[in-house]
Amino acid sequence: MSANDDWSEPTLLAQAMHAIDETTGAVVPPIYPATTFARNENYDLRNGWLYSRAGNPNYCEIETLLTTLEGGKGAQLFSSGLAAFAAAIQSFKPGAHIVVPSIMYFAAQVWLKRLTDRGDIHLTIFDPSKEGALETAIIPGKTDLLWIETALNPTWAVMDIAYCAELVHKAGGLLAVDSTVTPPVTCKPIKHGADLVYHSATKYLNGHSDVLGGILVCADDNEQWQDICAIRTATGGVMGPFEAWLLLRGMRTLSIRFREASDNAMAIARYFESHPKLEAVLYPGLNSHPGHDSAARQCENGFGGMMSLLVKGGFDEAVTVTKALKLFVPATSLGGVESLVEHRKTIEGDLSDVPANLIRLSVGIESANDLIADLEQALNQL
Ligand SMILES: *Cc1c(COP(=O)(O)O)cnc(C)c1O
Repeated sequence: MSANDDWSEPTLLAQAMHAIDETTGAVVPPIYPATTFARNENYDLRNGWLYSRAGNPNYCEIETLLTTLEGGKGAQLFSSGLAAFAAAIQSFKPGAHIVVPSIMYFAAQVWLKRLTDRGDIHLTIFDPSKEGALETAIIPGKTDLLWIETALNPTWAVMDIAYCAELVHKAGGLLAVDSTVTPPVTCKPIKHGADLVYHSATKYLNGHSDVLGGILVCADDNEQWQDICAIRTATGGVMGPFEAWLLLRGMRTLSIRFREASDNAMAIARYFESHPKLEAVLYPGLNSHPGHDSAARQCENGFGGMMSLLVKGGFDEAVTVTKALKLFVPATSLGGVESLVEHRKTIEGDLSDVPANLIRLSVGIESANDLIADLEQALNQL
């Protein structure tokens, strides 16, 4: 039994592409902990499986599902988001010119700077809030890769995927999109011109804060993609079969989790938009957000659960509110069923130019009323 081409995302996800086990009829796929696979009497591989560093049925189920959801030509699962990021970067030739926004996943940028210091790549970092900065950063005939995130953490400024694709393609380079905060139930970057889609599967895809994972999806099964596959096999950044099985279980509920988180976030954003203790609510779902139009074009099914609040006052006021929250859990990460809060200036330190009065929320799937009440009581401490 295999998935029907006409099925929509919620159906494909809930049934994990109709992953009924042929041997037993089990409605949930088995876990394949085997590291190696026996050959048949002719010494041929039985079903293509050789050794789990090269591939395993539990990774394959997820890769097939993500390829379908993103409308791509192939996918590779990695042991973490950053393992997938490293493989993508490594697939470019030495000395490649890579362009990234100044606001991007911090650890990924730290890695790129290290590669730059070693002379492995040429890196240009542009300020996405400055008009013309992106256009200047991309050099025709030289730029190999523009790497963007769909929404920039923690201001949630929105990058226009179609515009970025056109710009970098004209220059002869590729566009990779980190779509971690906008999973394929709402946003499909390949449709807007991306060559490579990236997710930290640790976040919305798994959704339960209990698996680290990363995934790359290609728009084209070309030489570079084959290189990315070879890099994973050669460097071994693979997930354990149990983690892959857990990830697929998490993904079965992605569409309802994402819808619920989006609805909760929208309810919170609307409730607090003109709150007297707040300077602003930064959420792409609000009409007042500068990236709303691009977000509305790219996100077909909700704006997700990520938002930031700018508290009136500064560092101290934001910390007071963060500490007074009882339901929001103070922790790094995002995209889980439980709501998290983080005072980013405390986390990023003095060198960071993140506003000191900014509180980042990852809104989960609890009752919206409870979340609103918690934020209200915390703001009343001011
Ligand atoms: C978490 C995250 C990553 C890194 O993924 P890991 O799974 O933690 O390695 C990259 N990009 C974004 C946007 C993230 O949120």
